[in-house]
Amino acid sequence: MRELLKQVSAGLNLFPCPVCRRGDGGGENRFCPECEKEMHRIEGTRCRGCGGELDTALALCSVCIAAEPRPWVGAAAVYEYRDLTRQVIHRFKFFNHPELARPFGIPAAERMRREESFRADLVVPVPLHITRHFRRSFNQAALFGGVVARELGIPLCNALIRIKRTRHQARLSKEARRKNPHGVFAVGKPEAVRGKCILLVDDVFTTGATLAAAAAVLLKAGSGPIFVLTAARTPRY
Ligand SMILES: [Zn+2]
Ligand SMILES: [Zn+2]
Repeated sequence: MRELLKQVSAGLNLFPCPVCRRGDGGGENRFCPECEKEMHRIEGTRCRGCGGELDTALALCSVCIAAEPRPWVGAAAVYEYRDLTRQVIHRFKFFNHPELARPFGIPAAERMRREESFRADLVVPVPLHITRHFRRSFNQAALFGGVVARELGIPLCNALIRIKRTRHQARLSKEARRKNPHGVFAVGKPEAVRGKCILLVDDVFTTGATLAAAAAVLLKAGSGPIFVLTAARTPRY
């Protein structure tokens, strides 16, 4: 049924590209081929640490080699965070365009389907940063993760909560502080993540520090291996 609807709407272009608003949206508001060309899709062999382009002969890029060991088994990113991708992600995050979760989520799920030996029981989004200049009514990582989860047929679980570094950290017990080394995240639903393989999702992979802090608390809560997926990766130059 979904395929049929897709074909009909594709034929009439009922759901055009959400960027240029006229290109062929493939029947489901995807980025059109012309916009895709300007969005720098990351293809081929990529770094296992960040999902970005590989600039070494190893499994990790030069940035990941220099960084702290990543607390995940693999990472994938769909686009390079520059030019049109950068503009579209800004629109998604800051200008109230939640509909952009879908065109990012669909290719991200396709990317994961191609990932050998990947399996996940849960999709967990990085919670919204609380120190934001813009007040938003939605968490773009959760919307993006929701599309990925639906496409892959895996449940989405908002297991992480972002706690305020200063005030709330002081209220935590010694044990909780040990489990929460960076003081940014806590696991709100430890029973939901225990023993589960997790696909941790965010919009952009920059240094990986935020994702590492999120992954660390999930692992401390007893989760299984973590794989990181982002819509985009900042380029190294
Ligand atoms: Zn377009
Ligand atoms: Zn890397």
